[in-house]
Amino acid sequence: MPPYIKNSIKKLAMPIFVKKRLREWKGIPDIVLIENTNHCNAKCVMCPHGKMKRKKGTMSFDLYKHIIDECVNLGIQRIQITGTGEPLLDPLLFERIRYAKNADIKEVNIFSNASLLNHENQELLLTSGVDLIFLSIDGFTSESYENIRVGLSFEVVKENVLSLLRGKKSKGNYKPIIIVGGLRVKGDASAFLKNNFCEEINKLSDGIWVGEHGDVHDWSGNVEGIHYRRVPWYNLPCRRLWDALSILWDGRVDLCCIDYEGTVNLGNIEKQSIRELWNEQRIKEVRGYHLNKQFEKIEICKNCFERPSWIPKNIERILDDF
Ligand code: SF4
Repeated sequence: MPPYIKNSIKKLAMPIFVKKRLREWKGIPDIVLIENTNHCNAKCVMCPHGKMKRKKGTMSFDLYKHIIDECVNLGIQRIQITGTGEPLLDPLLFERIRYAKNADIKEVNIFSNASLLNHENQELLLTSGVDLIFLSIDGFTSESYENIRVGLSFEVVKENVLSLLRGKKSKGNYKPIIIVGGLRVKGDASAFLKNNFCEEINKLSDGIWVGEHGDVHDWSGNVEGIHYRRVPWYNLPCRRLWDALSILWDGRVDLCCIDYEGTVNLGNIEKQSIRELWNEQRIKEVRGYHLNKQFEKIEICKNCFERPSWIPKNIERILDDF
């Protein structure tokens, strides 16, 4: 189905799903995003990390355990261990994943640039219990990749990705699900998929996502030179305010993953419970602005046209199959 038809259907259907989700809302987050570290080893052109002024650091294991234990007590089943940084720079990453899985968190996700996925880390990751790994790669030649992912080596990343995928295949395991994505190309994405590297990824991985330049968001206007195509339902409330709690490495809670600087301070997980943070006056106020389409009242949301879909994944998949 051509993307413009799919988007038109989604635009018409989205308000129905917004109403439905709000009616069924349980007052706790569906997913907790945990920034294990905000250190990074790359200077990607589409990322605001280089501009980030907040202190760099790595979450203490005690604080992490406190968050996981609270998620378990509340029945929160999904966490993502990634913030504005490369999670593999944290030496405790594998231990964190194991702790969450042993505590019975159903879905533990990470995003990585794959540059540090050497053989040892591949094995540790594949045996950690992690459920979903999203590997972000951009470009499919040394030149295109290294112009975007500045500071990283295409050959190293290519080898790491293929080796991880082969390693998983050789174990014959269904998990972890490995998606390779964020591959941004100029022009026709289908031509891009004919590239050998892509074909191999396609055969070995559980999914590949190829976005074109217009699909990359600009961090609420904080990264210049990004040609962002806003989604047609950008004037609907942002789903993230109802489903994802974002915790920075030092325990502060920010508005969402786009708020990389933590400009909207919703509180601190060391002092407040998840339930309290999720039902605080400030977040309620922001949700109210969104419901009333007063996006301009919150600086970070004012210029952000990143609006994740409210349509359930199974219906999205049916639309994708057409
Ligand atoms: S509109 Fe953008 S900045 Fe505001 S909550 Fe949603 S994703 Fe975050």
